[in-house]
Amino acid sequence: MPSLPILVLNSGSSSIKFSLYEAGNGERVRLLEGAVDGIGTDLGKFWIKDAADKKLVDQTPAVPSRAVAFKLVADALKSGELPAPVAIGHRVVCGGPTVRENQRITPALIDEIESYSALAPLHTPIAVYIMREALRLFPGIPNFAVLDTYFHRTLPEVATRMPIPAEYAAMGVRRYGYHGISYESIIYQLQPNVPEKLIVAHLGNGASISAIRNGQCLDTSMGLTPSGGIISGTRTGDIDPGVLIFILKKIAEGTPNAAEAAEKLETVVSKKSGLLGVSELSNDMRDLREAIEAGNEKARLAVDKFCWTIARWIGSYVAELNGLDMLVFTGGIGENDIRSRAEICAGLGALGIVVDAKRNNVRGTAVISAANSPVTVRVIPPLEDLMIVNHVVRLLGE
Ligand code: AMP
Repeated sequence: MPSLPILVLNSGSSSIKFSLYEAGNGERVRLLEGAVDGIGTDLGKFWIKDAADKKLVDQTPAVPSRAVAFKLVADALKSGELPAPVAIGHRVVCGGPTVRENQRITPALIDEIESYSALAPLHTPIAVYIMREALRLFPGIPNFAVLDTYFHRTLPEVATRMPIPAEYAAMGVRRYGYHGISYESIIYQLQPNVPEKLIVAHLGNGASISAIRNGQCLDTSMGLTPSGGIISGTRTGDIDPGVLIFILKKIAEGTPNAAEAAEKLETVVSKKSGLLGVSELSNDMRDLREAIEAGNEKARLAVDKFCWTIARWIGSYVAELNGLDMLVFTGGIGENDIRSRAEICAGLGALGIVVDAKRNNVRGTAVISAANSPVTVRVIPPLEDLMIVNHVVRLLGE
């Protein structure tokens, strides 16, 4: 019988998601999941539902700060009505150049992760806050950091090294890669038949793509920060550096303070660009698809840009892998947006990627390639929390 309740904490810039699993004897049973959304607003949402999708908590509190948000979660977990966790796994987006292994959290480890906050400025500050609070509010319970960068530890130097002066490289400026827990969960679900040459496209509000050989990451699109790589909801993805210099100079005309100007540039790059910037409408694929139906040209261009970029990236990864056995779509768009999958793959027949329109007409786990397609194309939802639980169970045993 499963025996260890393990809590998973997964914080984003404006939300804290969590889930509670029972793990033991190789079994993993999710007891509940929940979230606090809308941090920093009066229109927060706090919900918890059990394994049968029954809402245990459904509130709309004001959540002015992450402190209020995490207190809601901690109070619910300590109320005595839910099983008390014996360990906590934290999703940590980036540990910087020094924290590369999943490991037990100590105050010194949190300080070290915090010192590289600039590498994932949307994610690290809140994760650091929650790690400190979890150590304080759940004393005596081991906490573990599970890194999104861990999966990418096998990247060769030719992929990690940025073509910049060595002095900046020595500061930790390199390709780290993100969404690693999602990628690991895809490999986990493919076992024991992990293909030799695999490309996984994680297409959500943040989007990235990885080339994977024999289960190990060979290349990945996100770089120093999750703003690199392919265009996503509000982020540019890779871009001519001259564009950044141009925008920075424009910003500097009205903002002479360099640090302030850099902050504004960061907002442009990570919050105002991507699908939102091009469509001038939304970062959400569902809104864009609706707008396209209604004839909105900017929405069409934004989505075309998205699919075109991903198709090009798939092409370059086929070259890096010197062939391809399987392409997997995951993430909110990858799982649900039938049209994006069709549009991305439409021009990839020469690479052996042939999607069957009927098979593609699904949401969730499926094989969507045509029977005669040399490359198998699949849709597989990511199981990030389950992966974090797996790491925690392993680390508890060490
Ligand atoms: P994620 O960040 O993985 O939760 O993915 C969020 C993205 O998935 C958003 O752009 C959503 O619009 C998109 N998405 C979710 N459900 C659907 C759907 N049914 N059809 C199209 N896009 C969807």
